[in-house]
Amino acid sequence: MTAFPEHGTSWADLSQEFDTATGADADWRAGRVPLYVFHANDTVSEIGRNAYNRFFSENALGARRAFGSLKRMEEEVVAMALDLFNAPDGAAGHMTSGGSESIFLAVKAAREHHRARHGGRTALNMVLPASGHPAFDKAAQVMDIEVRRVPLGSDLRADVEAMARVVDGQTVLILGSAPCFPHGIFDPLAALSALAASTGTWLHVDACVGGYLTPFARAIGRPVPEFDLALPGVASLSADLHKYGFTPKPASTVFFRRIEDMERNAFAFDDWPNGNYLTRTMTGTRPGGAIAGAWAVLRHLGRSGYEQVARDLFAMVDGYAAGIRAIPGLALHAEPELAILNWGWEEGDIFAVAERMAERGWVPGLTQRPKGMHAMLSMLHAPARERYLADLASAVEAARGSASAGISASY
Ligand SMILES: *Cc1c(COP(=O)(O)O)cnc(C)c1O
Repeated sequence: MTAFPEHGTSWADLSQEFDTATGADADWRAGRVPLYVFHANDTVSEIGRNAYNRFFSENALGARRAFGSLKRMEEEVVAMALDLFNAPDGAAGHMTSGGSESIFLAVKAAREHHRARHGGRTALNMVLPASGHPAFDKAAQVMDIEVRRVPLGSDLRADVEAMARVVDGQTVLILGSAPCFPHGIFDPLAALSALAASTGTWLHVDACVGGYLTPFARAIGRPVPEFDLALPGVASLSADLHKYGFTPKPASTVFFRRIEDMERNAFAFDDWPNGNYLTRTMTGTRPGGAIAGAWAVLRHLGRSGYEQVARDLFAMVDGYAAGIRAIPGLALHAEPELAILNWGWEEGDIFAVAERMAERGWVPGLTQRPKGMHAMLSMLHAPARERYLADLASAVEAARGSASAGISASY
C-alpha cells in the first residue's frame, strides 16, 4: 500500500520513476498497441501538444466570463465541424471530453425531446444494433432507459427491418454507427434515416471513430457512404476529435440538427450562494488545452492536410489488409471501410493466435462475436507493418492445433 508521502520528491527523481515505470508498458510508439492511441505525423502531434500546453491552466468552464479566446476557439471548432458534416441551418453543437460524454448528451437530448412531445415519464427504450458502443448502455443505465440490442445482419451491419420491428412509441433513440468499432463498417444509415423519418424517431449517428476521417476518405475517392447531417433523419451526431481528428485528449464533439434540442441539455441552477451556475456538458471544469489543441490541429491540417493524412493512412491499411489476406486460413470478417480491421481464422482458434502475438510483444485486439482479431490503425502502425505480418504468419503456424489458454476479448 502506498502511503501519502511525508516529504516531497524532485522532478528529476519523478522523471526517473516515469522512465522506469513506462519501461514495462506496451510499446505504443512502435505500433504494438492496436487501439487507444492515434497518430497522424510528428508535426501534428507537436502542434497539438504545444497548443495544449499554451492553454494548460485555462479552464473552459470560465470561457464565457474570463477566457474569451477559448470561447471563440470552441465556437470555431464547432463551426468548422458543422461545415464538414453538412449541417443545415439551425444546427448546433459543442465540444465534450470524449465519445462517451457526447453520446450521453445525445441520449439525454433525445429523452427530453421525447418527453416534450409525448409527455409523461413512462418506461422509455432505445434501439441499438448489437455492434453499438457500450457508452449507450452506460447512458441508458444512468437515465433509466431500456436498451434493445438487435442482432446484426449476416453482413455484420445493423438489420434495419429487425430494428423497425422493436421500435415503438416509447423509443427515444435509434442508433447507426459510422462505422461501428467492432467490425469497422458502416450501418445502413440512409435506411435508418428513412426509418427515423417514417416513425418520427430520433436517429443518432455514432461517428465517434469515423467522423473526422470519413469526409476526407470520400474526398480522396474511397467508397464511403453518406453518414452525416445531410441525411434528413439524423437528429444528432457524435464525432471524436481525439481519434482520427488527431487532436489531444480529451476532445470530442456532438451535434444536433435543431439547436433547441441541444438547449434541452443546458443545466442552469440558481439556488446556490454563488448564484447562477450554467453548463451544457456533463463536466464542470474543462481543460482549455483540449480546445486549443483541437483548434490548432484542425487549422494546421485543413481539408488538404487531412486528405494527405488519409492517403498515407489508407495506403498503410490496404497493406495490412493484403498482408492478412495473404496468410493462409485468415479471412477478414468484413471489407474494411475505414481503418479498422477485423479478421478470423478458418482453420483454428484465432484467440490462440492472439496469445502467440502477445508472446511476441503485440497487444492483441480481439472480438468475441464473431471470434476475431482486431486492429484500429493509425500512422504509428506504419513502420511496424512487415514485422507485424511476419509475426502474425508465424503465430498462426504456432497456434495450429492448439486451443487458447483463456485469453478473452476486452476493449
Ligand atoms: C471510441 C468510441 C466511442 C466512445 O468514445 P470515448 O472517447 O472512448 O468515450 C463511442 N463510439 C464509438 C464507435 C467509438 O469508437
